[in-house]
Amino acid sequence: MSINLLGLDSRALQAFCTGLGERPYRARQLMRWMHHAGMDDFGTMTDVSKPLRERLAREAVVTAPAVLRDTTAPDGTRKWLLDVGTGNAIETVFIPEPSRGTLCISSQAGCALACSFCSTGQQGFNRNLTADEIIGQLWLASRVLRSDAASHVEIATRDTAAACGQALANDRPISNVVMMGMGEPLANFDNVVTALRLMLDDFAYGLSRRRVTVSTAGLVPGIDRLRDACPVALAVSLHASNDALRNELVPINRKYPIRELLAACLRYIEKAPRDFVMFEYAMLAGVNDSPPHARELASLVKEVPCKINLIPFNPFPGTRYQRSSPAGIDRFREELMQAGLIATVRRTRGDEIAAACGQLAGQVQDRTRRKRRRNEDETAG
Ligand code: SAH
Repeated sequence: MSINLLGLDSRALQAFCTGLGERPYRARQLMRWMHHAGMDDFGTMTDVSKPLRERLAREAVVTAPAVLRDTTAPDGTRKWLLDVGTGNAIETVFIPEPSRGTLCISSQAGCALACSFCSTGQQGFNRNLTADEIIGQLWLASRVLRSDAASHVEIATRDTAAACGQALANDRPISNVVMMGMGEPLANFDNVVTALRLMLDDFAYGLSRRRVTVSTAGLVPGIDRLRDACPVALAVSLHASNDALRNELVPINRKYPIRELLAACLRYIEKAPRDFVMFEYAMLAGVNDSPPHARELASLVKEVPCKINLIPFNPFPGTRYQRSSPAGIDRFREELMQAGLIATVRRTRGDEIAAACGQLAGQVQDRTRRKRRRNEDETAG
């Protein structure tokens, strides 16, 4: 079987090249062709010797998951549904903003953590994505968005030079990556770290550590390992102000309760590129959104340098939760700010195409059979 070079970080690609009897610098050339130029055809890699190009064409490939669906919402948010084989599909979302372009990447087909308010969590789990499937999402989105920008340049050159300049500024449309798509990134540690290394590598995507965020439901050993292996910005899905509530919403809390989680956050900050952790808090009407919850939350996190990002709950078919009212969210935020915390409300993007936080469903063949169990429970009850 051919090896997919997309999923090899710099060290692995050098080992691959030396294994073919080539000099290690070939790895840098290949990385630039693949990740900077978005090429998948070895024949176009003109500074690579012809015999090597021919050998690579026989023994290797550069390939990302195939696009099953490509949808753009009225607010410009774009979602790709990608085929990862055997009936499974994952989702990748691009969120354009005036000052940045953020790509939201998936790390698993499904998710085993079963957070009660998350659509992916309710699908069950199929498998970890490979490193090439993870970085392939960034490769594919960069390629598509760049070629779209280039076609705008063509039109613009016929119009005005100013418009052309604007389109050229879009040459690197993705400035930020968040591992906030389907799956729990720290439960697929090695493949995620390989992909992160490529995101940061100047010969690949050259993103700054501060602009790459791993979001976790709170796998404490994974947070410590990430600190040592590849510290990037950290977001933690807190969602509750005490253990009893968090046990219900984020069941992994039974294994790693809040106190241990916050201690891991403090250890992480020592080595992190940012001097705070982002706590995510989904606003669920009547569940975790009262002013007393806000005060409890403020006293809970007071020792941890942090910002709180309030996410208005995004509904999905079959959920029992509802989004807190805008006034309720404002009141909650006020309470946090009065306690001296920095709190923001995440603007909901892409909800018309089910691309908002926690709405990513893809297509997952549930290997945990969670769906069937739930249906049986419902029938029994
Ligand atoms: N497994 C990672 C990534 C999950 S998605 C994690 O748990 O952090 C990114 C964020 O969206 C998480 O904070 C997640 O809890 C939140 N989220 C999940 N479902 C949601 C929903 N329906 N509405 C709003 N936010 C949701």
